Amino acid sequence: MKIICIGRNYTKHIEELQNERPKEPVIFLKPDTAILPKNFPFFIPDFSSDIHHEVEILVKINRVGKHIDPKFAHKYYDEIGLGIDFTARDVQSKLKGKGLPWEKAKAFDGSAVIGEFLPKSEFNSLENINFELTNNGEKVQLGNTSHMLWKIDELISYVSQYFTLKIGDIIFTGTPEGVAQVKTEDVLEGFIEGKKLFRIQVK
Ligand code: MG
Repeated sequence: MKIICIGRNYTKHIEELQNERPKEPVIFLKPDTAILPKNFPFFIPDFSSDIHHEVEILVKINRVGKHIDPKFAHKYYDEIGLGIDFTARDVQSKLKGKGLPWEKAKAFDGSAVIGEFLPKSEFNSLENINFELTNNGEKVQLGNTSHMLWKIDELISYVSQYFTLKIGDIIFTGTPEGVAQVKTEDVLEGFIEGKKLFRIQVK
């Protein structure tokens, strides 16, 4: 399986990092080795002193597809989840400054938290899903999918122009504002519409 991540999909997050608003979705990949095993703590890696949490809505692909038309994209998933795209912000800033690829900052071991999934039939509208991240019980990121620059079906269509989507692939759809550094002993919990979908201890 592969993990396809979307960057800069929420205006306020683009502003907080002073990034340019993209004309097309920004895409990067994480390998399957980036997945943090279930119930494992997240260990801050030695090569970074500024790891940020980025809470994101996830989409799990359930059939093979390529060049998917946006109007058929809904047939390619039936579960929605929540996760964290852990980012070594200090490493990423250096790479970005030099115009180099971001993998060392984004695709390292443990950088992909994949929480539980919910059937998409549970939602009245996928374009109005509330989600949040708490750190030690305090809300740190609050998002709503209505604020995405590109909606889930548009992302699936766009991504499938470049990469064949396969069963089990996961799309990270971008983070809202509120990204911040994590420290040892932090406990990160993610919720969709009040339902807890993951709990991560930082070490
Ligand atoms: Mg992200």
